[in-house]
Amino acid sequence: TDPAIIRNFCIIAHIDHGKSTLADRMLQLTGVVQPRDMKAQYLDRMDIERERGITIKSQAVRMPWELDGASYALNMIDTPGHVDFTYEVSRSLAACEGAVLLVDAAQGIEAQTLANLYLAMENDLTIIPVLNKIDLPAAQPEKYAAELANLIGGDPEDVLKVSGKTGVGVEALLDKIVRDLPAPVGDPEAPARAMIFDSVYDTYRGVVTYVRVVDGKLSPRERIQMMSTRASHELLEIGVSSPEPTPSNGLGVGEVGYLITGVKDVRQSKVGDTVTNLLKPAAESLGGYADPKPMVFSGLYPIDGTDYPVLRDALDKLKLNDAALVYEPETSAALGFGFRVGFLGLLHLEITRERLEAEFNLDLISTAPNVVYEVTLEDKKVLTVTNPSEYPDGKVSEVREPMVSATILAPNEFVGTIMELCQSRRGDMKGMDYLSEDRVELRYRLPLAEIVFDFFDNLKSRTRGYASLDWKADGDQVADLVKVDILLQGEQVDAFSAITHRDKAYSYGVMMTSKLRELIPRQQFEVPIQAAIGSRIIARENIRAIRKDVLAKCYGGDISRKRKLLEKQKEGKKRMKMVGRVEVPQEAFIAALSSD
Ligand code: GDP
Ligand code: MG
Repeated sequence: TDPAIIRNFCIIAHIDHGKSTLADRMLQLTGVVQPRDMKAQYLDRMDIERERGITIKSQAVRMPWELDGASYALNMIDTPGHVDFTYEVSRSLAACEGAVLLVDAAQGIEAQTLANLYLAMENDLTIIPVLNKIDLPAAQPEKYAAELANLIGGDPEDVLKVSGKTGVGVEALLDKIVRDLPAPVGDPEAPARAMIFDSVYDTYRGVVTYVRVVDGKLSPRERIQMMSTRASHELLEIGVSSPEPTPSNGLGVGEVGYLITGVKDVRQSKVGDTVTNLLKPAAESLGGYADPKPMVFSGLYPIDGTDYPVLRDALDKLKLNDAALVYEPETSAALGFGFRVGFLGLLHLEITRERLEAEFNLDLISTAPNVVYEVTLEDKKVLTVTNPSEYPDGKVSEVREPMVSATILAPNEFVGTIMELCQSRRGDMKGMDYLSEDRVELRYRLPLAEIVFDFFDNLKSRTRGYASLDWKADGDQVADLVKVDILLQGEQVDAFSAITHRDKAYSYGVMMTSKLRELIPRQQFEVPIQAAIGSRIIARENIRAIRKDVLAKCYGGDISRKRKLLEKQKEGKKRMKMVGRVEVPQEAFIAALSSD
């Protein structure tokens, strides 16, 4: 295909602003999906994406379009919309010349609108501003056109107004994409260089790798090489999605498509890597490649201990399709055998857990998630701690915690409450701007640990749902952190150890000890529950002793009733875990971990 007729674009938007719906309309209008095959959010392929209505994995589709009697090939790349997957968004953007910046005409600009816009600008993309959902009675297209024009510089008149739902304005948008976006440029004679912007494991075809060719050409049956690992593979099939996979006899400059090599694991085909020709390799890769880095760790345990091998196999399977998932076996006295798993963020954790439960029929319990700490010991040794139980006792000279820079957008009436929240989370204000007279952008630097848990929920409830949040990793800082242990009759219960800021250690200790006092049944003897920092006790509760004689109640007589009671008691025992001399039903641990 002549690069002059190619237009590569993506749609960027805040979540729920209508990206997938608009993509559906484009597929229909360009005729690549027949009306009878149309399903809402056609491109969101994974079940979980459909259920939650969010896009996780990006996909590319090629669509024909005619303008002024000439034919064009439009490649639309759908990007994931969530902050956990920023790296994938940024790679998808790098595969395009332009971006449709989509904003809900009833909502206006939100935090991810900005975050995505900045990513697009970093990639030098041409931006086409578009207001969506103009069919809504609550739409305020004039107001938000001014806001958008103000943001990217330009005339409010130039902001297109569309409805992905009714299709109004979508043809005009496709025309504008052809007119305004530059055609791709590259050297057709140079050694091949193609950037991987997505790779997906498919049970039947193995890994399907999505690429954008920058220079040269990739042809079927030749040997290709991945530039970061130098691994080489035979190119079994190459083609374009339209939107069903259609093999072709090669991809040239500016083209977007897929390739299949028969590898079985997405880590052999990494997002951001450069594909070249083994026999005529490029001298330099396209750059920008980064390994995905887990930000949040949690222990995952099967509630039924015999499911451990099922969990192990399930994680191995998910990993084929998720280069960011890392895990290693872990044992807990309270929960038995499980895994310590690293995630990109909490959404990634939730999605992974849901998939494990739904697709592999597992019941899981996850321990409170924590971030990664860097601990320097007095002898200068540095430890990377992903699990509170690995936190060294004493001899610590310095602890560093990961930081993020966060952007919060909200109506200005909420500025006070947002500042209060950020301060209570050890935030440092970096700036504040008015995007329009009633909408404010606040910028903060905060510890990641303070925002991964309930920050977003708290922000939403303080602002009646009007605030939006986006953040990205921003180095680390020295912090005054301590490990709080929970002890049952002097024995540490590993699953409840937590690394917290010194100021919050006491409230964590009080919360955990009183929760456990409620949940753990009385024993034959008194059981103290303590929270401790090292050897210093910071909170304490007591479970009083009882004489647990179940038969005493059945004054002789009814023998079958006695037997029933004994059996019941035995059944109860099966699920008991011993912590020292204390018998704890596993349910108590599970309840203590899940109920907040
Ligand atoms: P995404 O998260 O950006 O992919 O957004 P979706 O395409 O999933 O849309 C989010 C919600 O907005 C869905 O309930 C859509 O039906 C709705 N929606 C999308 N576009 C329009 C539109 O143009 N008009 C109206 N009224 N609703 C829309
Ligand atoms: Mg979507």
